[in-house]
Amino acid sequence: MKEFIKTTLALIFITMSVNASPQEKPASDIVSTSAGDVEMHFIGHGSLMFSLNNYHIYIDPVRSSGNYDNLPKADLILVTHEHGDHLDTELINDLRKQETILLCSERAASKIQWAQIMKAGDTNVVNDIIIEAVPAYNIVNMRSPGQPFHPKGSGNGYILSIGDKRFYVAGDSENTPEMKNLKNIFVAFLPMNLPYTMTPAMVADAARAFKPAILYPYHYGDTNTEEIINLLKDTDIKVKIRNLR
Ligand code: ZN
Ligand code: ZN
Repeated sequence: MKEFIKTTLALIFITMSVNASPQEKPASDIVSTSAGDVEMHFIGHGSLMFSLNNYHIYIDPVRSSGNYDNLPKADLILVTHEHGDHLDTELINDLRKQETILLCSERAASKIQWAQIMKAGDTNVVNDIIIEAVPAYNIVNMRSPGQPFHPKGSGNGYILSIGDKRFYVAGDSENTPEMKNLKNIFVAFLPMNLPYTMTPAMVADAARAFKPAILYPYHYGDTNTEEIINLLKDTDIKVKIRNLR
């Protein structure tokens, strides 16, 4: 009888943990700001979600990058550019509620009627959050000679100023002079996969230049994340690896 109870309890426990997993939200980290705690959810690849006082900001939400089943509707959506791993019009529709604001690059906006265009250099203020669009482009990595994967002037990165902290999500970019000139970035998400964006050495070069307090390599595909840890281990930059392949 004892054995039976033990086995039954074990089975119940196993069933509970199996059932628990689909309910889970993506892993997250919290950064405290003067406007409150920002919870950064790592959905996968280039897809992130920031929550602040029950206000939910999606960045490049794409269904194939992770699990959206238990996530709330969007208050604000930012799209960096129109590539399929950054722009998913169906998911954007699913995340939309009446008051959702969508800010995106011009090419991405051409696919969604209610989008508002942001070009590099533009600033918007939504819910007391300052959103700056900054350039995201390739210098050396080309689709074919003279044809960069991400031409200058087409895609955006975004800097979100939330309270006293600045969060930078680079989009698909290389270590451009504009990136290296950024100031006062607390958290940076930098893409790290070839041939589309940066090698670990390029990410390290950018990070050494603008010195974020915390660096998340993201959109890193099969790149060995140990490399960026090693390249920056003599700096004060905290490199955090999360599940953002
Ligand atoms: Zn791209
Ligand atoms: Zn991409």
